[in-house]
Amino acid sequence: MTEMHHFINGALTKGTSGRFSNVYNPATGEVQGKLPLATSEELDQAVQIAKAAQPAWAATNPQKRARVMMKFVDLMHRDMDKIAEALSREHGKTIPDAKGDVIRGLECVEFCIGAPHLLKGEYTDSAGPGIDLYSMRQPLGVCGGITPFNFPAMMPLWMFAPAIVCGNAFVLKPSERDPSATIMLAALLEEAGLPKGLLQVVNGDKVAVDALLDHPDVASIGFVGSTPIAEYIYQRAAAAGKRVQCFGGAKNHMIIMPDADLDQAADALIGAGFGAAGERCMAISVAVPVGEETADKLIEKLIPRIEALKVGPYTAGDDVDFGPVVSADAKKRILDLVETGVAQGAELVVDGRNFSLQGYEDGFFVGPHLFDRVTTDMDIYTQEIFGPVLSTVRAATYEEALKIAMDNEYGNGTAIYTRDGDTARDYVARVNVGMVGVNVPIPVPLAYHTFGGWKKSAFGDLNQHGPDSIKFYTRTKTVTARWPSGIKEGGEFNFKSMD
Ligand code: NAD
Repeated sequence: MTEMHHFINGALTKGTSGRFSNVYNPATGEVQGKLPLATSEELDQAVQIAKAAQPAWAATNPQKRARVMMKFVDLMHRDMDKIAEALSREHGKTIPDAKGDVIRGLECVEFCIGAPHLLKGEYTDSAGPGIDLYSMRQPLGVCGGITPFNFPAMMPLWMFAPAIVCGNAFVLKPSERDPSATIMLAALLEEAGLPKGLLQVVNGDKVAVDALLDHPDVASIGFVGSTPIAEYIYQRAAAAGKRVQCFGGAKNHMIIMPDADLDQAADALIGAGFGAAGERCMAISVAVPVGEETADKLIEKLIPRIEALKVGPYTAGDDVDFGPVVSADAKKRILDLVETGVAQGAELVVDGRNFSLQGYEDGFFVGPHLFDRVTTDMDIYTQEIFGPVLSTVRAATYEEALKIAMDNEYGNGTAIYTRDGDTARDYVARVNVGMVGVNVPIPVPLAYHTFGGWKKSAFGDLNQHGPDSIKFYTRTKTVTARWPSGIKEGGEFNFKSMD
């Protein structure tokens, strides 16, 4: 078993706390690494190094900063296989899915190459007599981020790439379950030309997170993870006077209208519900067929597709649809919720409870499950399961289906399957969810748009990636300059407005 490291000041750094957490291979259940959990002093040292490195980086011209991102993209392509393997080994997802995780992050880095254009600011010539008015975007200083286990490449990249290209330093606390891919990316960014100390990766638990939230030299906090922790982090960091954006959990509904292509909808549900073992914040976890006939036909089409899913370790190659869940605790929680669903009266039409994989009995595999006739008061509906469990809530009408999605406390993603443009337009206009798919099951926007949910799926004002990320990681300074007449005309004592 190897002892793992922090990445501080450009080097792999041994932890000093004497506290460790286990990093597992979810496919085998074996502990493969001991991860040091930082003390608040170690976190403080990382922040101090970042703080010292940041002013020179902020003074580096934006084009040069963007060139580091260009080179970073090349290096990520070069090392794609290595990063994906490390990611799958700790997370459990299949290799093609791990590459998707890296590539969706890489696309955000590509967007960041264009940051100089977005950092140009605004200018009004002759806003008044002899007066020019201009606004510029300046970096915040040292920014902090805390990321979840389910996208160990994409989520950190969505945070540190825009922060750094804007001239900030970044201190990242990645998930303690699968930090290796994150650390590999940090080392690659330095190889791409980022000066030392500007990206610090500090492993840890609540101790390191709280130290980051309270640190007076940390200007902003980005968080992605579960909703209870998102709320806690939002409140604590905001109380400490920081700029904060926190993205939380989800319960994403797909509405299936009677006129939808049901084969297409069923295929989409399989990928969106069971891909990455359901451990995606944009997974579809609730299917809402409209009308009994639609529901019966949909269930009929889903059952054989779900029963044919291949569950296995990432080492089995492309022939696997999804891998294990991340931990023994996650597996137990999912299976307990399935039992609750049965006890509360939902119909378990595909039962994955006895799933076992020969040779991998200690792995954290969970078979696929399909529930029918779920109602909105059941625990399997109200809780985010984050596992390979798809629930079907039958709706009698379109309005009822819309109301189900709207009454849910989460609002990350949703989709509607229909051939009718009028219904689709109505759904898009009225639903209170941040990202909507029309005949697209996982509507994750591309990197030049922004990503973010509504309701209990997000706290804070700005979204991730796209133009919002440049706004989040900079603050505006507005200058009113008057040269030189007027000054010699004497002082002005009234508060001026432009008549
Ligand atoms: P999590 O909330 O358990 O952990 C996220 C991060 O917070 C980790 O770095 C963890 O170490 C830290 N953390 C955990 N407990 C803490 C505490 N008490 N105090 C301080 N820090 C703490 O989430 P997870 O299990 O790693 O990730 C899965 C969750 O993330 C799901 O709810 C999923 O929907 C959500 N998620 C949301 C988005 C989004 O964009 N909305 C994207 C990906 C994942």
